[in-house]
Amino acid sequence: MIPVFKVAMAPDVPERVAEVLRSGRLEHGPRADAFEAELGRRIGNPRVATVNCATSGMHLALHLLAGRDPYRPDPAPERDEVLTTPLTFEGSNWPILGNGLRIRWVDTDPATLNIDLDDLERRISPRTRAIVVVHWLGFPLDLHRLDQVLDRAERRLGFRPPVVEDCAQAWGATCHGRPLGNHGNTAVYSFQTIKLLTTGGGGLMVFPDDESHRRALRTRWFGIDRHDDRTVGAYDVAEWGYRFPMNEVNAEIGLANLDLAGELLVRQRANADRFDKELQGVPGLEHTDRPDDREPSFWAYPVKVDDRPGFMRRLAEAGIMTTIVARRNDEHTAVAAAREPLPGLDSVAERVCYLPVGWWLTDEQRGHIVDTVRAGW
Ligand SMILES: *Cc1c(COP(=O)(O)O)cnc(C)c1O
Repeated sequence: MIPVFKVAMAPDVPERVAEVLRSGRLEHGPRADAFEAELGRRIGNPRVATVNCATSGMHLALHLLAGRDPYRPDPAPERDEVLTTPLTFEGSNWPILGNGLRIRWVDTDPATLNIDLDDLERRISPRTRAIVVVHWLGFPLDLHRLDQVLDRAERRLGFRPPVVEDCAQAWGATCHGRPLGNHGNTAVYSFQTIKLLTTGGGGLMVFPDDESHRRALRTRWFGIDRHDDRTVGAYDVAEWGYRFPMNEVNAEIGLANLDLAGELLVRQRANADRFDKELQGVPGLEHTDRPDDREPSFWAYPVKVDDRPGFMRRLAEAGIMTTIVARRNDEHTAVAAAREPLPGLDSVAERVCYLPVGWWLTDEQRGHIVDTVRAGW
């Protein structure tokens, strides 16, 4: 079976991890600091904070931008909604609920499968507390257009809702020539096992300003500055926080995998370019839009197909795994109260399907996928 995801692990990881284990320093050490510095360098923004997973990162990001605290006055209690996309993994959305906020769904752009920016603009209201966007499959949303939407909202409403970008699937993706995490919002990457850059579980927060970065470095660990001398009890928690730091083992795995992820990204982009060309004109199969001012990471290759069950069955018979990654989040019972009509999503939800496109494909396997799809289902 050609897998739709595969774990990328550098050959020297076991020995490097063994060394960390023997060192006796498993948390709050030099490996996480080094990984953090290197990630900031590669993204081109030093305001970064590693965390134990992207879901923690999303939770902390929303907490910092839109969270509620019973001991602090809420400057805008009427703002209780977070606008977000239902076409994503649940890890994008449950942190909204974890912060005690309501979900307000925004429709999907059928051409890109990302959040529909026109619908987002329509739904920004005096109740909007924050916005979550997802670079689905590593296809960057047009962040320049998003900025214009926010500019207009600010003029209309007198405030600018803060945005959290879920970059979980987008390591290596760029928007208007710069890596995600450089466009004025808080951004969150995932280094979960099957993401291109893996730490075996981990995440990264990236901040647009020093103040939010400083707050995050404290609130990811109880609100305590690790460098304070706590032996005499002379430390103070001004803002309480969580227990989300990345440990030394995961950081070392990430450091070892960084260069590998860069090399593999080149290969999966080349695979995607081939699919772009060789899967043209297949009856019953539609591609997503691919604007040339943004470079995707191609975590998987999206297509929209007629008779999706038949398509997936036919490819499975030919030894090719496909996936739909996640159920549309608005259909879950837990959030039934938030349901509303989403015609854009309805028009693609039963047709989207994701093909293996990653670095592990051999030329023969890539050809086999093309031939199988072209033969019809
Ligand atoms: C993987 C993923 C997450 C969750 O990442 P973790 O690091 O496992 O918490 C969130 N959102 C999206 C879109 C993902 O693909």
